[in-house]
Amino acid sequence: MITYSKQNICSRDIKSVVKVLKSPYLTQGPEVPKFEKKVQDYCKVKYAIACNSATSALHIACKSLSLSKKDILWTSPNTFVASANCALHCGAQVDFVDIDPFSYNICIKKLEKKLQQAKKKKTLPKILVVVHMAGLSPDIRSIKLLSKKYKFKIIEDASHALGGKYLGGKIGNCLFSDMTIFSFHPVKIITSGEGGVVTTNNYQLSRKLMLYRSHGITSDPKKMENTPKNEIWNYQMIALGNNYRMTDIQASLGLSQMRKLNAFVRERNVLAKNYNLLLKDLPVQLPISLKNSYSTFHLYIIRIKNQKKIFNLFRKKNVLVNLHYIPVYRQPYYAKMGFKIGYCPESEKYFKEAISIPIYPGLKYSEQKYIANIIKKNV
Ligand SMILES: *Cc1c(COP(=O)(O)O)cnc(C)c1O
Repeated sequence: MITYSKQNICSRDIKSVVKVLKSPYLTQGPEVPKFEKKVQDYCKVKYAIACNSATSALHIACKSLSLSKKDILWTSPNTFVASANCALHCGAQVDFVDIDPFSYNICIKKLEKKLQQAKKKKTLPKILVVVHMAGLSPDIRSIKLLSKKYKFKIIEDASHALGGKYLGGKIGNCLFSDMTIFSFHPVKIITSGEGGVVTTNNYQLSRKLMLYRSHGITSDPKKMENTPKNEIWNYQMIALGNNYRMTDIQASLGLSQMRKLNAFVRERNVLAKNYNLLLKDLPVQLPISLKNSYSTFHLYIIRIKNQKKIFNLFRKKNVLVNLHYIPVYRQPYYAKMGFKIGYCPESEKYFKEAISIPIYPGLKYSEQKYIANIIKKNV
């Protein structure tokens, strides 16, 4: 069996986790801050707040920007449902901007057009969630310019993109956004089992994120109401939060994996180059590269006319290819909110042609040739 992606765990990873299991703290110990510091330093960003998933990271990112009823969040339909659901969890509305047919990221021209129309109708979004599809950054500097003109906040959903670069800087440095989200689910670039992180350069946002991650409880006397005397046991709940904390077990795995991050991304890029050569000259649309973006190749997506046939063939041969993504608004839950099939035409065309073929550190060249041959013989 070959899967489209999977984790890469070494004996050092296992040792780090076992060490925590034998330590006094399984959660709320020293490993989480260490992991956060590591991500901060890596991304060259001021703050990193670890969570138990990217889904919860997205939720508190929206909450910390005070997204609520009457507000609107926009994102790409070509993403995992969590990039849009974070708005619904805040009681806000969601709308979608169609994709570019080559990068599979949000189309910036369509975004600008939609913003112009929304301004007239007074339906401008409060937040735009920008997805780094497959690990390739869109031209986020242009999006930042639009955000100044139309006054919206930017959350980068870089669940695919830890270790990627844009304009020479690491994704997660938040130079062109308010916050960036990463996921550490086992299929992503590095893993902590389950886990996520929010990065930001904004102190106020970082405090809010920490508060919402842990029940809205503070033990900082300065933040408390009716300023209690300095009793050491004192704490107050000053906002409504959740338990979205990462455990020290997860953080220790994440920390250990961080040491391999650059090697993982380099290997994924080598594998992508191999596929580019193996599949060239076939009637298959291959991933593009962009001059300002260094992709992590979390996914290697091809577009192919006889998608269904090839997909089934792969599955029959135990090559677990996948489809990233069904346009989010096509999900029954969103359809019931009024979204119609065909809402974003480029995303629909893409959805009928895309296949994510296996790519992960440890995938062998012989396996890549085997996969490429299946395509070659059947297109
Ligand atoms: C994986 C993923 C998420 C959710 O990540 P979890 O850590 O599983 O919650 C969100 N957005 C995108 C684009 C993803 O790929």
